[in-house]
Amino acid sequence: MILVYICPSCKSVRIASRRKAVECLKCDEKMILSDLTFMEWSEMTLEEREAYGPAWYKKELDRQNRWKAKQAKIKRNKSEKKD
Ligand SMILES: [Zn+2]
Repeated sequence: MILVYICPSCKSVRIASRRKAVECLKCDEKMILSDLTFMEWSEMTLEEREAYGPAWYKKELDRQNRWKAKQAKIKRNKSEKKD
């Protein structure tokens, strides 16, 4: 299965088959698996591909921040219950 990976450092996109770790060819950073399928990727224009990495990573950061905020809220609620 061919998957689309994104580098968290330089936001470059790399196509690779599924494996444990995919490193960025530019900066050796461990890449993150995107939710884009190879079919979708192959149908994108060059401009769309160039814009995809940074846009996806921004979305990923938002998702992570929301998750962290949610975890912090849960933690807060738990400690409030103790008091
Ligand atoms: Zn990179």
